Amino acid sequence: MARSQKKYRILWLPQSTVIAVIVGFVCCAGKATRLPPGTEVSRAIMEKNVAGFPEGADRSLAQLKKMTHEDVTLLAWSRDFARGSALLLELESTKSLSDLKLAVNGKDLKLTEGQGCVFALFANSPDSQRKENKLLVSRGSTPVAEFTLPVVQKEYPVAVSKMNVQNFSNQSKPMSQKTIDWIEEGRKKKLKAFVSVDGSYLTQELKYPRDEHKITSPFFIKRVYERFKMVKGKKQKLKGRTSYHGGTDLKGLTGAPIFAVANGVVTLAEHLYYDGKIVMIDHGNGIISGYLHQSELLVKEGDRVVAGQQIGRSGNTGMVTGPHLHIFLSVHGVKADPLSLLVLPIRARN
Ligand SMILES: [Zn+2]
Repeated sequence: MARSQKKYRILWLPQSTVIAVIVGFVCCAGKATRLPPGTEVSRAIMEKNVAGFPEGADRSLAQLKKMTHEDVTLLAWSRDFARGSALLLELESTKSLSDLKLAVNGKDLKLTEGQGCVFALFANSPDSQRKENKLLVSRGSTPVAEFTLPVVQKEYPVAVSKMNVQNFSNQSKPMSQKTIDWIEEGRKKKLKAFVSVDGSYLTQELKYPRDEHKITSPFFIKRVYERFKMVKGKKQKLKGRTSYHGGTDLKGLTGAPIFAVANGVVTLAEHLYYDGKIVMIDHGNGIISGYLHQSELLVKEGDRVVAGQQIGRSGNTGMVTGPHLHIFLSVHGVKADPLSLLVLPIRARN
């Protein structure tokens, strides 16, 4: 079904007015696709002829843009080179690789030694207005090549919902000090978990985070809330609210398995107020993944995990209206569609 034909419906469960965070759970039509646990998605498609991966979670779907200048060749891989997507940037050279440096839009990206290349991960910001990325390759302090990669101006879907604020009697209930402390402590722990490790745990192994595939709310959907209240039988409009979905929601009934998408180290395994039971994994190379609203965590902070390892079970903890997996991806601090990572053919050494 084409995205434009999808109908989105938003359900509500506001719990507080102290901090105005509202979470919508968006449902869309379509059957889930079954996958064996810890599936490498490309293989599942080839062997089982599984159809219906609208977000392109298949490594063979990565596009390649290859450019050469003098001794340096850039191989840029991405699902679609769109804003909100992750990119794999590889450099090959007929000369040495070890002294190559790469800057994208003026910002240095740390290069990791791979098989016959050096590589870095990058992501286009989902709300970027940039039409192209400028890549500068240097050897030592000498510029050796400049490349330009277009940024596809992908439009993300919008879901509009009307909300009568009077339906929510608990909006006037004050939050307890205990809850306020819990939120603050969680905020600090999460912030700490975003400080990325220097190393690289990434291998060519990238695994699907669930054992079935159904997107219940897509990445970066814009949620527009038209708020109103009834005064003497007449609708009175209130200030609207807008939020953007910072991850992708995948179907996952309570107890369903959740898998690490790549090798890494667990930097957070906690029960937080809004996120519920959450695991964050640092994969190195500036890549961090997060798995929210779980019913049970099967790893703890400091654990090394491998791609496809079960890290927990799906649930409805935190601010949600029903069980599902909210997965997010951060690439050098930029939010990107987590499924866009899974198509990248990483040529890691290990
Ligand atoms: Zn979500």
